[in-house]
Amino acid sequence: MTMAEQEIKKFEKTDCAENSVFYQAMEEVIYSIAPLLESDEKYLKYAILERLVVPDRIIKFKVTWLDDNNNVQVNTGYRVQFNNALGPYKGGLRFHPTVNEGVLKFLGFEQILKNSLTGLPIGGGKGGSDFDPKGKSDFEIMKFCTAFMSELYKYIGPRIDVPAGDIGVGSREIGYLFGEYKKITSSYEGALTGKPYFFGGSLMRPEATGYGAVYFTGSMLEIEGKEPLDGKICTVSGAGNVALHAIEKLQQIGAIVVSCSDSHGTIYDPRGVDLELLKTLKLERRTSLKEYTEVHSEAEYIPVENYPEGAHAVWNIPCYAAFPCATQNELNELDAQNLITNGCVSVTEGANMPSTPEAIALLQSHKLCFAPAKAANAGGVAVSEFEMSQNASMTKWSYAKVDEKLKETMQMICKRVALTAKDYGVEGNYVDGANIAGFKKVADAMIAEGI
Ligand code: NDP
Repeated sequence: MTMAEQEIKKFEKTDCAENSVFYQAMEEVIYSIAPLLESDEKYLKYAILERLVVPDRIIKFKVTWLDDNNNVQVNTGYRVQFNNALGPYKGGLRFHPTVNEGVLKFLGFEQILKNSLTGLPIGGGKGGSDFDPKGKSDFEIMKFCTAFMSELYKYIGPRIDVPAGDIGVGSREIGYLFGEYKKITSSYEGALTGKPYFFGGSLMRPEATGYGAVYFTGSMLEIEGKEPLDGKICTVSGAGNVALHAIEKLQQIGAIVVSCSDSHGTIYDPRGVDLELLKTLKLERRTSLKEYTEVHSEAEYIPVENYPEGAHAVWNIPCYAAFPCATQNELNELDAQNLITNGCVSVTEGANMPSTPEAIALLQSHKLCFAPAKAANAGGVAVSEFEMSQNASMTKWSYAKVDEKLKETMQMICKRVALTAKDYGVEGNYVDGANIAGFKKVADAMIAEGI
């Protein structure tokens, strides 16, 4: 039995099924860091793995709120404070019916290593609720956010834990959450990031994750000796914050983005997607992508029911570079095979863990450039940390300054990941490089801070 297998055995999957995504994330990391554990006994001696995979604490609370018909509604709220060896707990809030403890543990665990890779002083955490924002009025969203914060405020603060957005939580929700935090604590402080600009947000925070993923890809392609993205066909999944801004940056650098998707279907527009229309549909009207074809009849709308069996329509579209930016496990082995068959050269994870382990293995075995989420989508949390810095010093940075620092950060992460992979004998493997580099920094801090 290899060392990685022995370590994984220690974490038998004895608890509930909802932890499966957490185990998926954990196993990937353990396999990647095996060479590090073998090369330096201190990590086993100080039981770093055993300590790292258990959150410092999981806070679970009831959220009671009144809907527009004055019916009482009850949801569950969570905050997983995973690890603060490098700085305050930091990570988004997700509002989605699929949220449970296992999903948040997976996201929080990934966040520890992602935040470590940025080189910034931030620990890892994640939170959210099984509340479904879809179909809720603006007033209901506000009432839910207020009720959620009336419990969460006890556990957060600019030096303790600084939540941000994620699926279902954008600047509107962060605004309501921040307003309630301020009301309860009488304190105007940066306890949340992703705030609207005019009351404490950073310029470029909404764009940061999507733009960062494109910057990362540019660096990776250069390091790997591949052609740059300009003039190339790209496919993007999702139509939320990360996807829309990945599309925007790709278009700015001259790439042709031919797809986007939501949970109901995929748009394929071979002439290049109309970003302004997408923003209107998704950010203003919050409606289905299907309406895209009412304006662009030449584009194709593929509803989920018509997806190729066992696969996703978006990864069946020929492209040079693919950007999964919707949700976890949205790119499986069949999708990976379709990308390979169609000549794809590079896959960048904008979403968290969008590719299954089998898909990653297949893409890597065919020598595609593969940028894992914890490195490629770290731009969002990096700019969140810039927002914390601006709030702490009561200053505002210019758009150009944030953009420059974001680009620098993504290029730095990319180089560090590539170099680490080389140092540990797995050149070109950005998954292992990211896991080893992210883990090492947190582990060394945990050892230095004592048990
Ligand atoms: P949003 O809520 O803004 O958008 C999510 C998008 O994904 C929506 O278009 C949604 O469609 C689509 N989607 C959700 N589930 C599915 C599914 N099963 N199949 C197809 N499409 C689906 O979230 P974000 O853009 O903020 O987040 C997307 C991903 O990026 C998540 O994995 C998140 O954790 C990650 N991420 C986000 C960061 C950020 O800064 N926002 C930072 C780092 C990572 P629909 O509206 O129909 O549900």
